[in-house]
Amino acid sequence: MAETTKKIVQEIKIDLDKCIGCRACEVACSAYHAKPRYSSINPARSRIRVIFDDLNDVYVPIRAGDYTPAECTGRHTYTINEKEYKECSFCGVACPARDYFKEPDSGLPLKCDMCVSDPPLSEPMCVQVCTCDALTYVEREIEAGPEVSREEIEIGLESMANKYGWKRVIDTVARMSNKD
Ligand code: SF4
Ligand code: SF4
Ligand code: SF4
Repeated sequence: MAETTKKIVQEIKIDLDKCIGCRACEVACSAYHAKPRYSSINPARSRIRVIFDDLNDVYVPIRAGDYTPAECTGRHTYTINEKEYKECSFCGVACPARDYFKEPDSGLPLKCDMCVSDPPLSEPMCVQVCTCDALTYVEREIEAGPEVSREEIEIGLESMANKYGWKRVIDTVARMSNKD
């Protein structure tokens, strides 16, 4: 019988009632991921974007998730408290349907990395700067699923290379992995 292993899942809880739309999280994320670190601020490079939901008059912080090469064909529309939300409102995916979560220079997708660094931060940057406590960092222990295989990684890279070309993918990965 396979041995059960545990892993820590990092999570950022979002409380819309506390978000005032100051966008400090966007600024902090883009500065933290600038090369060299803190050398520039450009919210277009941020892995968190604050969307204004004008139907409900609330700000909605969305963190960047995985990249998809194809936008959804069957989309969801959410109705909450009898108000309708736009189809992509709560989606954190970098996809061709919109401009969010794309590196402005290369067009390559951006993904939240929970501010991985060595030594680790006490909390991700966006959480640290959110003085309204709209963002809360938590860690949970869960049972580990199967690891991502080398083959799956290669399929993901090949998918991006088919869209952007290997040179842009390799150049961008090299630039993003440069030490500060
Ligand atoms: S820093 Fe906090 S309050 Fe400001 S926009 Fe981001 S989530 Fe909202
Ligand atoms: S942004 Fe999200 S919901 Fe909208 S088309 Fe792309 S993947 Fe689908
Ligand atoms: S956790 Fe880090 S990488 Fe993710 S959105 Fe927040 S600041 Fe950006």
